[in-house]
Amino acid sequence: MRMKEISFRNSEEKIGIGKIVCVGRNYAKHAAELGNEVPKFPIIFIKPSSTVIFSGESVVHPDYSDDLHHEVELVILIGKDVKDADNISAEDAIYGYGVGLDMTLRDLQNQFKDKGEPWTLAKVFDTAAVLSNFVKKEEYNSELNEKIWLKVNGEIKQSSSLNNMVFNPVEIIKFISKRMTLEKGDLIMTGTPEGVSRVVPGDSIEAGIENIGELKTNIIHKNN
Ligand code: MG
Repeated sequence: MRMKEISFRNSEEKIGIGKIVCVGRNYAKHAAELGNEVPKFPIIFIKPSSTVIFSGESVVHPDYSDDLHHEVELVILIGKDVKDADNISAEDAIYGYGVGLDMTLRDLQNQFKDKGEPWTLAKVFDTAAVLSNFVKKEEYNSELNEKIWLKVNGEIKQSSSLNNMVFNPVEIIKFISKRMTLEKGDLIMTGTPEGVSRVVPGDSIEAGIENIGELKTNIIHKNN
């Protein structure tokens, strides 16, 4: 097994990726566009690190879905083990920030939601998590008002600001770490703004967060 590692802007340091904890419905307009209410508590699911690819690599479209969606998200890198975090230890656990795509099989997700079954297989497939390089918090500490955007084939699809997040990173870390220990190398994908849409093989995606990073990928068929 090859350990997947986070790389940083302006640093040679590498950090191995642990679990990836994802937050659902963390922007009100995205919850609304999928017909969901804004949750009272963060909705949590997990992607394994085996799903990760990096900017410049390709997303392989599963052949058992016909509705692959992009979701651009702020990603938090945890730099130290943290359990039952308070405001100070939650902030202190943030080592850096990056940009990620939470690639989602929306047709499967809707089927699972209708049946009350877990979303896992709508969110977990090889290449389902696309990551940028990260910036260390000591180099740039997000003010949580940066622009977040995504383009498909050069056309803007998602455009929002991090200040539209329902739960901010400290609140999310406090919530998660009360339920499972967060460890150095774990990532938190903090949810996507409105504008998610279907992509198909041949499409290219560019995405970014102001001052934090950018990534690009393209969608390919399984047998390419
Ligand atoms: Mg998401």
